[in-house]
Amino acid sequence: MSGDVHARVTDDFSAYLEGELTPAGRARVEEHLGKCIQCRTNLERLRRTLGTLTALKEKAPGTFLPDIQKQINERSRGRFFGRRWLLFGRIPFEWVSLAMIVAMLLYYIVTLQSSPTGVSPR
Ligand SMILES: [Zn+2]
Repeated sequence: MSGDVHARVTDDFSAYLEGELTPAGRARVEEHLGKCIQCRTNLERLRRTLGTLTALKEKAPGTFLPDIQKQINERSRGRFFGRRWLLFGRIPFEWVSLAMIVAMLLYYIVTLQSSPTGVSPR
């Protein structure tokens, strides 16, 4: 029985933190929080997680991703995100796939024609 209350209140946590609960729902959550340290702890943990995520979203500078790639590149001694990847990034991926398909098709045709077991006139 009391487990149900925990579950229901826990379900409402994110709505509670975002202020989306009705006044009645809010009161129910707050009343339960007042007497349940377990849910208070859980709510605090969720609040901190959401806060961290929000802070990350807001504070990530424009160079965030390039910085990470540079770090990885340096730590892997150029194995990842090196020039090769930069070059690859400049060629549209569709072109690469198209070139590969054409190459495979050519290979297939050549193999078929030179194969002794291939279909050939008598
Ligand atoms: Zn509880």
